[in-house]
Parts: sequence; structure tokens; C-alpha cells
Amino acid sequence: MNRNPGNFAPSGMQSSLGRTMAFFLSLTIFAVVIINIWTLWGSWQHNQKVREEDARNLSVSLAKQAEDAFLQVDITLADAVRQLTINGLDYAATPVFANQLKEQQGKLRQLHGLFIYDAQGKWIATSGNYVPAKGSNADRDYFVWHRTHDDARVRIGHVIRSRSTGDLVIPVSQRLNDSKGNFAGVALATVKVDYFRQFYNYYTLGDRDVLGLILSDTTVLYIRPFPDTAINHSLSTSPLFTTVLKTSSSGSATWRSALDGVERVYGYARLEQYPLIVTAGYDLDKIRSDWFSANIIDVLLNLILLVMISGMGMFVLRQVRKNVRNQVELTQIRDELTTINHTLQSLALIDGLTGLANRRQFDAMLDQILKRSQKSGEPVSLIMFDIDYFKRYNDTYGHVAGDVCLQRVSTILKETTQWQDAVVARYGGEEFAIILPLSGESDAKMIAERAVNAVLAARIPHETSGLSEHVVTLSAGYSSLISDGYSDEAIRLKQQADKALYEAKNNGRNRVHGLT
Ligand code: GH3
Ligand code: MG
Ligand code: MG
Repeated sequence: MNRNPGNFAPSGMQSSLGRTMAFFLSLTIFAVVIINIWTLWGSWQHNQKVREEDARNLSVSLAKQAEDAFLQVDITLADAVRQLTINGLDYAATPVFANQLKEQQGKLRQLHGLFIYDAQGKWIATSGNYVPAKGSNADRDYFVWHRTHDDARVRIGHVIRSRSTGDLVIPVSQRLNDSKGNFAGVALATVKVDYFRQFYNYYTLGDRDVLGLILSDTTVLYIRPFPDTAINHSLSTSPLFTTVLKTSSSGSATWRSALDGVERVYGYARLEQYPLIVTAGYDLDKIRSDWFSANIIDVLLNLILLVMISGMGMFVLRQVRKNVRNQVELTQIRDELTTINHTLQSLALIDGLTGLANRRQFDAMLDQILKRSQKSGEPVSLIMFDIDYFKRYNDTYGHVAGDVCLQRVSTILKETTQWQDAVVARYGGEEFAIILPLSGESDAKMIAERAVNAVLAARIPHETSGLSEHVVTLSAGYSSLISDGYSDEAIRLKQQADKALYEAKNNGRNRVHGLT
């Protein structure tokens, strides 16, 4: 038996139970991991969707704000143009008109100034206090454009630095025509960039989150949190212009900024009335880190739980394996003990030298067979054998040869009764006995003679035998009875057979004698 647990061969029970437990443990861990990944993924998707909606809503509301700001300026400018159209361009130089401009400017916080230029770009009127006598704005972009384009619509230009105050302003301009429809000058309203700067600063945003006001020709008018150097920068390479705006005028998308290369979740909206676009972008890295911070505790708790489940599972698995191992070992020990028991039992009943039934088994079998005879009424016979002159055999050939001789005689006796329901026993020393159930005298005589003859025929040399043959011989005595249940029957049967054997010895040995 192998009791070393290290070399323990896994039994079917151990492998199947252990395997089932290991399988369910793995399945649980796998399920927990998958559910967590799935939940986290869902939460990330949701988070991103929420941010996209936020960005889109913000861009739409900022677009509305920009629209209102420019509409107010547009109305003011249109009013001035209307008055000049009605009263003629000279009206612009009157103090009444100048006061009107001043008054209008005071009403609108986004308005930096209102200006009227003649066909040569010379200042005619301003909402400011000072009109430079020699000043000309004929070189300004908007002036050149209006002079060369017969278009009555309002134009929003790139950001310029005001020549009157030095502020950054967005020019909103309109062409003035004389009564014949020829170019007569430009009416200009300048919108403060600072107005948008302040407005956008009202929002609490991250350092890298973006709010931008952009001209449709891709030029930046204002964009937070970038420095003013970003103003008038072209965003023509931005996905906003290369792809996004081509499909819809408002929405949300994620792209990498053309200004700083940072990836953001953007909301964008094109203004309805003006060639302007507003974008609101949330830094994707910040969104990720915020989301991570919000979920890390959950993830850690789940991991701890997973480690605990795994640990517990491993512990239970090990215990189960140990129990199963103990059980298998116990079964093995029990089997071994049973085998040892059987061996002990057979040792107690079998003669060690010859392998025949020993005296103990002989007595037990005789009792049992006699009881059966009592029930059935059938006879029982007993034959006793004794090797002739065996002492001399030992003396001549030694005890070891004597033992071999006993074994050969035993084999012959067994062979003689091979087909009978007989019990062959070593009765003691060089004496043997055969119990023949269901057999009377004639059978006993026949078997006894067959055995005696067989031993003689084996011709085992025995130089010192007192008989003329000089081979090993047997003497046999038999007796038979039908049991009537008396307790001394076994003794009686043995005595009679023994007596018969004595007679056989006395009558010259190597023969059979019967007594009943
Ligand atoms: P008889 O023909 O009258 O039976 O003469 P015998 O010599 O056979 O009778 P005896 O009873 O005087 O001697 C029996 C001998 O059997 C004595 C003993 O040495 C021998 N013997 C008994 N048991 C064993 C055994 O297990 N092994 C061996 N080798 N000899 C045994
Ligand atoms: Mg004897
Ligand atoms: Mg003898």
C-alpha cells in the first residue's frame, strides 16, 4: 500500500469532485470578472454619452448666445445704415447722428464701437469721442471686401486690433451705397472679443476643456483656454471642418484638436443666421481620469471580493481533496485489513507445509459434514493414512527430504480425490485423513486403495523401508457411519478409522483396512 500523500494516485471520486469544484470556482471567478468588465464598460459608455450630450447642449446654448449677441449688433448697424440711406451720407457727420451712435453703443455690452467710413475709408462718424481728421481705414480687410463686392449683407470678419482703443475686436460691417447704387463707404460695428472671453469664463471648466467661436471660413475668433495667439488661427485641418460639419450642422463627436493635439469630446453648433460655429470640448483624458477615480473604489472592492472568493474556494477545494484522500486511504486500509484477515483465517485453517486442510479445519469440516449426514441420512466415511517407516525415511534422507516427501504424498492424495466432494487434511506428522461426504464403505475402500496404490506407483525411493519394494508406501484405515446426531460421533469415527489403520499396519503395511 502506498500511504504517502505525495504519491497519492487520484481516485475517480477525488478527481471528479475536485474537478467539479475547480470548474465551478473558475466559472465563478470568470463570471465575476466578465460581469465587472461588462459593468465598467457600460458605465464608461454611459459616461461618455453623458459628456457628449453635455458638450452638445453647451455648444447649442453658446451658439444661441452668440446669435443673440451678433443679432443685436446687426440690428443696430442696420438701423444706422437705414438712417443714412434715408437722410444721405452727409447725415453721418451731424452731431445728432453721432449722439445716436453713442447711445446705441451704450446699450450693448458686446459692442466696442460703431463707425461710418466714406468711399475713401475716411472716418465720418464714430460712437467714440474722437474722429481722427486724417484717419483712413481703406486698408482694412472688410473695407476692401465691401468696395469690391456689391453685397448688401452684413459681413463678419477676422479679429483685428482696434485703431481707436487697441482692443481685439470682431468687425461686423455693411456696405453703404449712394443713391445710384455705387460704393459710398462702410458702416462698421466692432464686437469685443473680451465680451466672449468673459462670458465663457462664467463656466466652470477643466484646464484643457475648450469653448470656441469660429468663423465658417475656419478662422478662430476666440477660443478658451488658448492664448490670444490662437485667434485668427485657421482650423482647416480640424476634423470639425474636414468631416464633422459636412454631415450635420450640430451634434457631438470626438476628435483631436488641430491647435494642441489633445483629444476631446466636442459638441458643435452652426449658427442659423451668421457664418459662425461654436464648439465646446471636454478633455478626454480628464473624462477618463474622472471616470476612473469614480470607479476605482468599486473595482478595488470587487477585486478584494474576488480574491476572498478565490481564497475561500481554494481552501474548501483543498479541504475536500484532503477529505477525499483520507477517505480513499481509509478504504485502502480497510481493504488491506480484510486481505490480512483472510490470510490470517486461511493460515489458521491450512497446513503450511502441504497446503492441505489442517487439523483445525479437518475437525470443523467433519462436524459440519456429520450434521449434513444427520439431515440427509446419507453416510459419511473417513480414511486415515500413515506413511510407513517414515522415521527411517527421515533418518536416511534427512528432514528436508522428509518434508518434500510429505508434500509429494499430499499432492498424490489431492489428485486421487480430485473429482470427489472430499476434504483432504494433514492430520498430524506423517498422518493424513480424507473425509468423504455422501460416501459409504465401498466408496471409502475404493478411494483408500486408489490412494495407497497411487503412492506406491509414484515409486519414491525409500531404501530403508521395512517392505520389500523399497519405495514410500501408505497404510490406510477407513470407517463409515450415518449420523444420528450423537455428540461423540466424530470421535467414534476417528477412533474406528484409526483402529482400522492400526490393523493395516499390523497386517503388513502398504494396504487398506476397513472397520464399521
Ligand atoms: P510406522 O510405519 O509404524 O508408521 O513407522 P514410522 O517410523 O512411520 O512411525 P513413527 O511414528 O515412529 O515415526 C513418525 C515419524 O515421522 C517421526 C518424525 O520424525 C516424522 N515426522 C513427523 N512429522 C514430520 C514432519 O513434519 N517432517 C518430517 N520430515 N518428518 C516428520
Ligand atoms: Mg505415525
Ligand atoms: Mg508412520
